[in-house]
Amino acid sequence: MTMTTRYTGLIERYRDRLPVSAETRIISLGEGDTPLIRLENIPRLLGRRVELYVKYEGLNPTGSFKDRGMTMAVTRAVEEGSRAIICASTGNTSAAAAAYAARAGITAFVLIPDGKIAMGKLAQAMMYGSVVIQIKGNFDDGMRLVKEVAGEAPVTIVNSINPYRLQGQKTAAFEIVDELGRAPDYHCLPVGNAGNITAHWIGYSEYACGGRDCVTEACAFCNGECRFVSGGPVSTSRPKMVGYQASGSAPFLRGHMVDHPETVATAIRIGHPQSWEQAWQVSRESGGWFDECSDEEILAAQKLLTEREGVFCEPASATSLAGALRDIRSGKIPEGSTVVLTLTGNGLKDPDTAIAQCTQKPVTIEAELDSVKRAILDAL
Ligand SMILES: *Cc1c(COP(=O)(O)O)cnc(C)c1O
Repeated sequence: MTMTTRYTGLIERYRDRLPVSAETRIISLGEGDTPLIRLENIPRLLGRRVELYVKYEGLNPTGSFKDRGMTMAVTRAVEEGSRAIICASTGNTSAAAAAYAARAGITAFVLIPDGKIAMGKLAQAMMYGSVVIQIKGNFDDGMRLVKEVAGEAPVTIVNSINPYRLQGQKTAAFEIVDELGRAPDYHCLPVGNAGNITAHWIGYSEYACGGRDCVTEACAFCNGECRFVSGGPVSTSRPKMVGYQASGSAPFLRGHMVDHPETVATAIRIGHPQSWEQAWQVSRESGGWFDECSDEEILAAQKLLTEREGVFCEPASATSLAGALRDIRSGKIPEGSTVVLTLTGNGLKDPDTAIAQCTQKPVTIEAELDSVKRAILDAL
């Protein structure tokens, strides 16, 4: 007899490790379970013996990892009786908030930086029917305003300062360990607010945690009392967590907040990260590091990944590859390592940046056989 189980999202899959009860009405769009794609051509180009995987989070329902956090945050908001959610966003959080609010039948208010959000993300926020408020300021201004207004209005904040967001997002680490059979040696990801690097560390730590008899040193997230442990650790190790930032928007490299962040990677155009302390702790505990990439490196990595591996991610996501390429070349990430790169969002989110960097423009010809043949011969 064959048994088929319909995949119904990450809360169902990992419900014993997430803050839900049997009565909880789960707000899901089937998020999670994203492909872990082993790169074949780029390692060969590099000439380095590394096992390089990308976790393609762009295949989530709204096209970014934000869905992992949003299914959990909206599920809990609804359970607690909230009728409206609010967030500041560089685009992807607003798309996810809008979609899950639509699914739940509640209202989403989204504050986005006027003119600094990728076209696909704006289309999503509007199409899903959220209330889109464009502010004449950046993400950090929006975040400050959201915190202020949430103190005075009956709305639930669904930015990553909402702890349920990180609970949902930690499942990406579970999926990676479940699929590889162990934790990778290095996990590289782009850092904006630093919620995601923190969430991954929670996930890896929980899987390595043995509860009261925990051998994981200084696991500050559970303090040896992890309530999500059932039957001992799943993994015996945790990766070094490597966070890459865009040079124009790199508070973790400067060592202080940045007031006027600028980068083509708009999803990480954040100068005042909300998970500042947590991310430093992750870096220390895991033995990882932060580094920065220029906009040119980021765009080159995005193009390389698309052309050589057939994986199209948005610019911010390519920051993880841009940084990893450098660290693999230099040997900081040594040969023999297993490395996972998070590709946070889908390339279709930002068609303008993609088209602008393609030097090969489409040719226009007459609609006749000879013209097509000539075009093909010209290109060969
Ligand atoms: C939100 C986001 C990031 C940054 O994640 P943080 O948790 O803010 O560090 C990176 N890339 C994309 C595509 C995003 O949407």
